[in-house]
Amino acid sequence: MKNYFLISVSFCSSLFYSLASIAGLKVVTTTTDLAAITREVGKNLITVESIAKGTQDPHFIEAKPSYMSKVGQADMLVSIGLDLEAAWLPSIIQGARNPKVNRGEKGNLEVGPFVAPLDVPTGKITRAEGDVHPEGNPHVTLDPIRAGEIAVVIANRMAEIDSSNKGAFLENAKSFQQRMKDKTIEWQKRIDSTKIKKIITYHKTLTYFLDRFHLGNPGILEPKPGIPPTSNHILKIITIMKEQNINLILVENYFDPTITGKIKQDIKDVRTPTVAVAVDGAAKVSNMEELYEQLVKSVEGR
Ligand SMILES: [Zn+2]
Repeated sequence: MKNYFLISVSFCSSLFYSLASIAGLKVVTTTTDLAAITREVGKNLITVESIAKGTQDPHFIEAKPSYMSKVGQADMLVSIGLDLEAAWLPSIIQGARNPKVNRGEKGNLEVGPFVAPLDVPTGKITRAEGDVHPEGNPHVTLDPIRAGEIAVVIANRMAEIDSSNKGAFLENAKSFQQRMKDKTIEWQKRIDSTKIKKIITYHKTLTYFLDRFHLGNPGILEPKPGIPPTSNHILKIITIMKEQNINLILVENYFDPTITGKIKQDIKDVRTPTVAVAVDGAAKVSNMEELYEQLVKSVEGR
């Protein structure tokens, strides 16, 4: 009986060990876009979950104890960096007490600096400029080409941590990257055929999407990054829209859509669709391709 017990214990523990290795790397990401890209790379060889929801403004996430315990069990933490998570991620990492994912460790990856950030401020930055990011605009995943590059960056790091799956990670990342390159050509053609050249947004969330598809962004509804629209500033935007013949405002769906009311009164043919700007930010936006597809459709007016 005693022997039987010992055998079953050792059987159970080896079974447990093999189940754990089947589950593979445990990755936690700060945003749903990063989770979606990581999923493209790791497929069923890893598990991945995001701290922020796709409907949340990623600048402002509460550092909940449940996030700390998630990060506490992770093999790898993927974030954007570029200050996007500066207000909340450091306290989550501190509370997680997991040396694997501390800054500077292999298990801590910030992808933003790898993909040529835009809007890097020149000169001195003061608080008077609003919530300006000194290392550049952090909304890098809104560009399908950069998303492909991010996949490769993530794959390389995952391969360092789990070398047994190196081939699969790199191959998956390359194939996602190629798919995004091919789709970008198709999306560009569709956007070109709308003849739309300039778009207003609420925040500088869509900078990388607009830059990729050669769409100008001559005004944002926020007077300064992170500062809610004022009626004075809205009047300035109306003037810009009239002067430059702009009739499309994309409102990121975690901001107040009623803010466009005054503009709608003044500019009769204006369209003001609300758009998801992250995976899981709306129904049928469950991966990166669907996210860009939704944005392209909102430009097309579909
Ligand atoms: Zn931002």
